[in-house]
Amino acid sequence: MKILITGGAGFIGSAVIRRAIHDGHEVVNLDALTYSANLENVASVEGHPGYAFEQADICDRARLEAIFAGHRPDAVMHLAAESHVDRSVEGPIDFVQTNVMGTAVLLEVARAYWAKLEEPAKSAFRFHHVSTDEVFGALGEDGEFTEETPYDPTSPYSASKAAADHLVRAWGRTYGLPVVITNCSNNYGPYQFPEKLIPTVITRALEGKSIPVYGDGRQVRDWLHVDDHADALLTVLKTGRLHETYAIGGDADHRNIEVVRMICAELDKVAPGNTAHAEKIEFVTDRPAHDFRYAIDASKVERELGWRPKVTLDQGLAETVRWYVENYDWVERIRERGFHSERLGLVKA
Ligand code: NAD
Repeated sequence: MKILITGGAGFIGSAVIRRAIHDGHEVVNLDALTYSANLENVASVEGHPGYAFEQADICDRARLEAIFAGHRPDAVMHLAAESHVDRSVEGPIDFVQTNVMGTAVLLEVARAYWAKLEEPAKSAFRFHHVSTDEVFGALGEDGEFTEETPYDPTSPYSASKAAADHLVRAWGRTYGLPVVITNCSNNYGPYQFPEKLIPTVITRALEGKSIPVYGDGRQVRDWLHVDDHADALLTVLKTGRLHETYAIGGDADHRNIEVVRMICAELDKVAPGNTAHAEKIEFVTDRPAHDFRYAIDASKVERELGWRPKVTLDQGLAETVRWYVENYDWVERIRERGFHSERLGLVKA
């Protein structure tokens, strides 16, 4: 397949691109290169004949039309988004612009392109929206999200992703665009921008700084290694049923404080300091309206498509910690651009 992947210079998009090229697909990476993008993430495929890069904003309809006409993709996998909850608290409009408007523009351009395709390309075409489990809101101590869970987003980020999901379904129902949606739990792994929990903990610990934990650290997240997510996404793109939703998770629910302690223990092995890294843990003001718990029942994707996660959290965290230690120059270049994993997302007047 020739897959047009939006957001391919980001964390998850770049993992999908590396996997897709490895699997023999052609890829067009469409990315605006915002602050979280990094073309180093796709450096390993840059010279591959099946790889092309287009710097473009998904809100720019004319550019998108030219890219679709020029590359003629067989499928679209849409990951471009503003992705960080704390930033959405500080600046929600960027999230509405990219995640809602950008998705609508991309859907319109994809629809016009798809409508003119000849068979069998038309029937084979797919528009896959990569979304989050955060659209379902927060769970209490029990239960898991499924594909049937009602939408109840909390943050401007999750509300904008929920809106995008609704738009994708509407384009499927109204215009017959062949769509599929995945809602995935929290990802971690190499090349994650050091503003999300796991890379923030690792990089700040390596720099001898305090390790911030929001609130009491009792919030629960279901962690999935990014390579498992990439595998799930390509599985759904190839074999998922049209107009369906698939919930994707790692079956690895842990309290944030447990995950932070696991990382500290791993760091004590590979990058020991004068004191145990866990001594640098500092409980800080909680995120406003911090969702208490996410957990995913991923039995549908396993039953129908045979996908299940392969990487355990222990293995994945050990590998991720090692990756950041060995590739600290990747972090340093981000620091040189002015990002220091400082606190974001406290509500200001
Ligand atoms: P990321 O921030 O690392 O990457 C986002 C990419 O999108 C960046 O390369 C950025 O330049 C690009 N982008 C942003 N605005 C754009 C625009 N207007 N036009 C074109 N490109 C633009 O994010 P990520 O963590 O890789 O997440 C990718 C997708 O997966 C997002 O849609 C996110 O909602 C979803 N998701 C993320 C997680 C997670 O744990 N990170 C979990 C589930 C779903």
